[in-house]
Amino acid sequence: MLYSEIADVFGRLEATGSRLEMTSILAEFFGRLEPSELRNVIYLSQGRLHPDFYPIELGMADRLVLKAVAKAAGYPEEEAERIWQKEGDPGIVAEDLISRKRQRTLFSETLTLEAVVEGLTEIERSDGKDSQSQKMKILSRLLSNSEPEGAKYLCRIVTGRMRTGASAMTVLDALAECFADKSARPEIERAFNVTCDMGLVGETLARGGMAAVSEMKVSVGSPIKVMLAERLPSLPEVMARMDGRCAMEFKYDGMRIQAHISEGGAVLYSRRLENLTGNFPDIAEHLSSALKGKEAIIEGECVAVDPETGTLLPFQTVTHRRRKHGMDSAVRDIPVRLFMFDMLFLDGEDMTQTPYAERRRVLSESFSEDPLLTLTTMEVVESEAEAEEFFDRAIASRCEGVMAKSLSDASVYRAGSRGFLWIKYKKDYHQALTDTFDLVAVGAFYGMGKRAGKYGALLMASPDTETGRFCTVCKLGTGFDDAFLDALPEMLEPYRTESCPKSVEARMVPDVWFEPGLVLEVAGAEISVSPIHTAAWGWVKDDAGIGIRFPRYTGRLRDDKGPDAATSVQEIFGMYEMQGSDRA
Ligand code: AMP
Repeated sequence: MLYSEIADVFGRLEATGSRLEMTSILAEFFGRLEPSELRNVIYLSQGRLHPDFYPIELGMADRLVLKAVAKAAGYPEEEAERIWQKEGDPGIVAEDLISRKRQRTLFSETLTLEAVVEGLTEIERSDGKDSQSQKMKILSRLLSNSEPEGAKYLCRIVTGRMRTGASAMTVLDALAECFADKSARPEIERAFNVTCDMGLVGETLARGGMAAVSEMKVSVGSPIKVMLAERLPSLPEVMARMDGRCAMEFKYDGMRIQAHISEGGAVLYSRRLENLTGNFPDIAEHLSSALKGKEAIIEGECVAVDPETGTLLPFQTVTHRRRKHGMDSAVRDIPVRLFMFDMLFLDGEDMTQTPYAERRRVLSESFSEDPLLTLTTMEVVESEAEAEEFFDRAIASRCEGVMAKSLSDASVYRAGSRGFLWIKYKKDYHQALTDTFDLVAVGAFYGMGKRAGKYGALLMASPDTETGRFCTVCKLGTGFDDAFLDALPEMLEPYRTESCPKSVEARMVPDVWFEPGLVLEVAGAEISVSPIHTAAWGWVKDDAGIGIRFPRYTGRLRDDKGPDAATSVQEIFGMYEMQGSDRA
C-alpha cells in the first residue's frame, strides 16, 4: 500500500465536518486493506504507532520536526520557523515547504505504508546521547520521499496531533460498517473496551469476522476501560433506584489504579491508561507479593495516608507521587495505601461478567494481609437510615461520599460505560449545586489589566459521548492564582491551533484555540439554558444549549484524566435535570 493513498484518506477526513461522511470514507478504505495494514492504518489515524497504553510515545518536539522539514525540502531552518510562527503547526510547514521543495532527491522512492511504519519505529527506538539528531534524520528521510500532503501527516503523527477529526468512536463505526452492520457496533465497542486496542480489534475483525471479535477477552497486560458511576442527588433516590438494597462502599478521594499482576511483577495503569508503575513502585511490589494466585487484574483507589495516624489525606497529596524526579524520596515522604474495590481477572478467568458480590468475595480472598493493601470499607445496606448512617461514617473517615453498588445478578463489570449499577453520592451534593465538573480547555481569551499579556479566561468544553465532539459549557475566569496564570500559556502551548478544532463545537469565539487536552476541575453555581454554549444544543430548547453559571476553578488540575474522560454533556444534562426545571 502506498503511503500517499493513506494520506489522501486523512486529507478527505480533515476536509469534511460530517461524522457520517468520515465513517463512510474510512469504511470504504478499510475494505481495501490487508488485515495487518488495517491495524497500522487505524493506529496512524489516531496519530500513533501502537495502542494508547503503549509506554513509548513518538513525541518529537516541534522545533526538531522543523529542522527535519527544512533539511528535507532544502530550505534554511529560519524559513520553516517563520511559517511555523504564523501557522503553529509543523504539519502545515511541511506541506508548504515540501511542495516548494528545492532539492529533488535523485532516486526518490515511492513511500509505502511499510516504510513509514518502519521509519517511525526507528524514530521511536532511537535512544541515547545522539537520539535527537537520529530522529531528525530519519524523519527528514521519510519527508523527502513523501508527497506534500503525506509530509503534513507524518509531522502530525510524530508530534501526536493528528487533527483529522476522526475519533475512536468514528473508527469503530467504520469497522462495523465495513465488516458487519450497525447491529454489530456494540459488540465491536465491547471488544475495544476490554482491550483498549482498536488496531487489534480491527485486525481481528478483518481476519475472523464477528465470531473472532466476540471471543476477545480481557488479558493481563492490556488495560481495560474503566467502569463508571452515575450520580443521584439524594440517598433516598439512590436506595429507590437500587430497589431498597445494595452494597455501599466508602468513596475515597485518590487516584484510580488498575493493576495487572503477573509473575513478572505488577503494572499499574491510571484511568486514562498511563503507566503509573514508576510512581507507585511500593504498591506494585506489595501487590505482587501479596497475591495468592499467579495472575490478576484488580482495581483500587490509591490514597495518601498520614504515616503516624493512618488518617486519609486529600487528593492533592497523592498527586505529588506523579512527579518525574525524586521518586525515592516521594515514596518515603508520601506513604500511600491502595483501597481495592474490584477484581476483573484471576488466574485465567475473565471475571468481568461475574456479578459484583462474587467478584468482591474473590477479591477479599485473593490477597494475604499487607500493610499497603486493604479492601474498601463496604456494607450491605437495606434502608435509607442505614444508608445515611454509612454515609456519615464515610465523611467522618475523610472520604468524599459513598458508592452504591448493585447486588443484582446483572451487576457485571461494564468496561467503559457509565450506568446505574454503580451510583455515586458525594458530600458536595448537600451543598448549593451538584458536583464539580472536569472540563476541557478549548480556547483562551487574552487578559486585561492585571492579567495583560497572559490568558485571562478559558473557554471550557465537555465531550458529548454520542458524537465524540467537545461542546462548550462556560467561560472560566475565576479561581486562578498568579502562579497558575503564569504557567497556563506553557501548559496550553502543545494544544494550540490556528482555528477552531474539528472536534470542537463552539459559538463563542476565543482569541486562541486549543485542541482538547488540558482538563481542569471546575465548580459552578448552577446549570442553565444558554444561547451561547453548545452543550446539549436543542435538548431543552430550540436554538439553545446549556451552560454552567459562575464557574470557578477549584485549583485541581485533572492531569489523571484525558479529555474524553472529562464530565460529559450527558452527565451535565443529567445534573441540569436533577436541579429541577424551575431554573430553566
Ligand atoms: P468520579 O471521578 O467523581 O466520577 O467518581 C468515580 C471515581 O471514584 C472512580 O473512578 C474511582 O477513582 C473513585 N472511587 C473511590 N472509591 C471508590 C469505590 N469504593 N468504588 C469505585 N470507585 C471508587
